[in-house]
Amino acid sequence: MAEYTLEIKDLHVSVEGKEILKGIDLTVKSGEFHAVMGPNGTGKSTLAQAIMGHPKYEITKGSVTLNGEDVLEMEVDERARAGLFLAMQYPSEVTGVTTSEFLRTAINARREEGDEISLMTFIKEMDKALDQLEMDKNMAQRYLNEGFSGGEKKRNEILQLMLLKPGIAILDEIDSGLDIDALRIVADAVNKVREETNLGAIIITHYQRLLNYIKPDFVHVIMQGRIVKSGGPELAERLEKEGYEWIKEELGIEDVTVGQN
Ligand code: ADP
Ligand code: MG
Repeated sequence: MAEYTLEIKDLHVSVEGKEILKGIDLTVKSGEFHAVMGPNGTGKSTLAQAIMGHPKYEITKGSVTLNGEDVLEMEVDERARAGLFLAMQYPSEVTGVTTSEFLRTAINARREEGDEISLMTFIKEMDKALDQLEMDKNMAQRYLNEGFSGGEKKRNEILQLMLLKPGIAILDEIDSGLDIDALRIVADAVNKVREETNLGAIIITHYQRLLNYIKPDFVHVIMQGRIVKSGGPELAERLEKEGYEWIKEELGIEDVTVGQN
């Protein structure tokens, strides 16, 4: 199995001229799950979008490499081909392209010419993934995310993860809007991908709840656009019991958001 290392060094990111991330350092290797936690407005989604190359997020300093290759120099589709994957907090709707067509194109984009996935294999794998996610088979024939409920969009993101088998995945609030049964289904699917493919991941979440189902090896807390604390799973447990207040006190800050500073 291929080994991946995603290395983020001193990453500074601005949106519309305002600095949101102020020096993020994080290294993620195959098989490692890193939870990135923090209150709202602290820069978590900005980190995900910047790594994946969303044009609105301007990197002003620092580096991101995948197996030593400069990710920031890659086009967005090259990043996916290199093995990176992003499950978005707010997936967008795409009219005119069915979920199934989108997936097959995305899978083939990661393969060499002449080595495209056969239609039979693709349908078999997709049906298996739809079953695991307890998704309606008809979903695949609908336009990507169009009219999907919040929960269906989240499952659809994980469907992509299961079929694309990336090296390193960034999962941004995949738990938001899911009821407890759906959360378990989604978490089981992520854990299965982890086992089968030695996936490495950044699991962004606001609540500790998700981490009861997807066990992180490392936990990082982000505030004011910086990682202010790192630890093991016990850090997430403490956050569940005590919230973020004690970290704010330790740091002597009141506003955790990126704010105007
Ligand atoms: P989190 O995911 O931790 O809740 P975000 O990274 O979404 O936080 O946002 C951090 C800050 O950056 C917020 O103040 C937010 O308003 C700002 N920001 C993020 N993305 C954009 C954007 N596309 N346009 C304008 N402001 C943004
Ligand atoms: Mg967010």
